[in-house]
Amino acid sequence: MANNLRKVRSWYGLTGEIDVGNHLWHLVKVSRVPLSHPPLVNLVLRKGLPPEEHLQLSFLHEFGHLQTFPLAILHAGFLMVFGRWRSNGFGTFLRRIIAGAIAHEAIWELSSEAYTLANAGPEYRRIYREHPNPFGHFLFWGGMTILAVFASLYVLKPGNSIQKKASVR
Ligand SMILES: [Zn+2]
Repeated sequence: MANNLRKVRSWYGLTGEIDVGNHLWHLVKVSRVPLSHPPLVNLVLRKGLPPEEHLQLSFLHEFGHLQTFPLAILHAGFLMVFGRWRSNGFGTFLRRIIAGAIAHEAIWELSSEAYTLANAGPEYRRIYREHPNPFGHFLFWGGMTILAVFASLYVLKPGNSIQKKASVR
């Protein structure tokens, strides 16, 4: 298989390596730390694309993860600071940790694909005009937005009012 390893440098200075040669497994290395992950998003959004376009958009998407990392950290930090971590006991705390992780992933996927869209520009539209995948786009943008919004809200929502009233008395 051809070696598609490319060295990249983010706008904020962090360097990394990206290999999207394997459609089933992407390798992103950030400062020598390998962050391998199955490109589930690419399987949904890039379904039916010819290899060259598939590779081009997959590369931009993975680079997008590196480029939008600060945004993902900002969102995670916001949830950490403003999340209602201490209300309603340990079970709710655990559910909020999981919701926070899901929201973080969803935000990061959305921002990486938004980066891909912005960077590929007219090329992005041309590729999907020639190889339409409306269901994949609906599933990705719709599903990820719903996950990002509702999982974030779950972390941020106040504890239940009955407990609050009880503690006031
Ligand atoms: Zn991704």
